[in-house]
Amino acid sequence: MFATAIIEKKRDSHELSDAEIRFMITGLLDGSVPDYQIAAWSMAVLCRGMTPRETAALTDTMLASGGVLNRASDRPRVDKHSTGGLGDKISLILAPLLACFDVDVPMLSGRRLGITGGTLDKLESFDGFRCDLSQAEIARQLLEIGCVITGTTLDIAPADRRLYTLRDVTGTVPSIPLITASIMSKKLAASLDALVLDVKCGSGAFMRTIDQARELANSLTATGTRCGLPTQAVVSNMDQPLGAMVGNACEVNESIDVLRGNGPNDVRELTLNLCSRLLVASGRFKQIDSASQSLAAALDDGSALSRFQKMVESQGARFVDILPLANSTVVESTRSGYIAAIACDKLGRAVVELGGGRSRQGDAINHRIGLEMFVRLGDRIEKGQPLLKIFAEPSEVLEKWRADIVDVFAISESRIVPPPLFH
Ligand code: URA
Repeated sequence: MFATAIIEKKRDSHELSDAEIRFMITGLLDGSVPDYQIAAWSMAVLCRGMTPRETAALTDTMLASGGVLNRASDRPRVDKHSTGGLGDKISLILAPLLACFDVDVPMLSGRRLGITGGTLDKLESFDGFRCDLSQAEIARQLLEIGCVITGTTLDIAPADRRLYTLRDVTGTVPSIPLITASIMSKKLAASLDALVLDVKCGSGAFMRTIDQARELANSLTATGTRCGLPTQAVVSNMDQPLGAMVGNACEVNESIDVLRGNGPNDVRELTLNLCSRLLVASGRFKQIDSASQSLAAALDDGSALSRFQKMVESQGARFVDILPLANSTVVESTRSGYIAAIACDKLGRAVVELGGGRSRQGDAINHRIGLEMFVRLGDRIEKGQPLLKIFAEPSEVLEKWRADIVDVFAISESRIVPPPLFH
């Protein structure tokens, strides 16, 4: 086989065989196909797409490039993946909540760059929290507590890491088949029985339009199913942050609030929706409604919070009810009207620039930095009323954002209908 012929075949919109896809991916890993050819092939895939069979073959090949997480118990094993959104703290609540229902939740999470942050960074707001558990430690914690959220010392889907590094610098990230294979190869490596995907759509998400989000959701569920993992997806709105708190320690504090049975409605509703789907898919409940009621009770009676505390302590940290935040500054509206739009991407960039997120791998972050939103889409606001609070230490960057951040909010004179949480 020749890489050039495979690139040309995809360029000319033909379907590749499983063997041709394997040739490219093994060539990427052993160096027999140079990076420039892999980059050209990725661009051909981005422009021409892949059939469901090709996407599944790519996913299987990337999965087979690394190890898998061994099964720790006979309990059903479930997980959730979100394509990432501002203030998306659902994993912190979902894992311990599900663990109250005799299922195992092994979450292998990342440290995402850019505006949406990563679950591991959020948990590292607890001093000493370990994200480098071994296979044996993951298995023991699943047996004892039922949930774990960690990075991985296992070599999971190394082909994805190599391919993503190339995609990142060649404009080939936004390809639905490449995103699908990247996400699903890592999820398949966790040996799950059921997976639910939360595909975000809006100004704070990767997918800006409903059509794009639906296409990704369909591709992910079709690939999961083809690869033997029962997979379902919801498309949820990300035109405003999820909940009120954005930033690492801020989001942990809000998660603890939800785990106590309080917290913002959207965070609670989304968590209950995703969890009840998984409890039905894993056979623990027959009906979504009864699953949802039992899950709500486990939030309200403190069982989920106690599970979260056990997980945090088992992973080496001291649990505290409320994490300290940086100094705060309130920003007020300069106009009266209705909140018509919130530029989530700019809000996320503010958190990164203030030091609460990373723009490059390895950057240090200050976990205490973040935002608290006081308004939501459709709210009526008067001039001088608080829009949000910024948690950050005094600096020139803070002064710049204090002046600029009002522009994140579009204010209209006419009434606005807020978007639904689910599309
Ligand atoms: N997240 C992933 O894990 N992979 C992609 O390609 C895009 C988002």
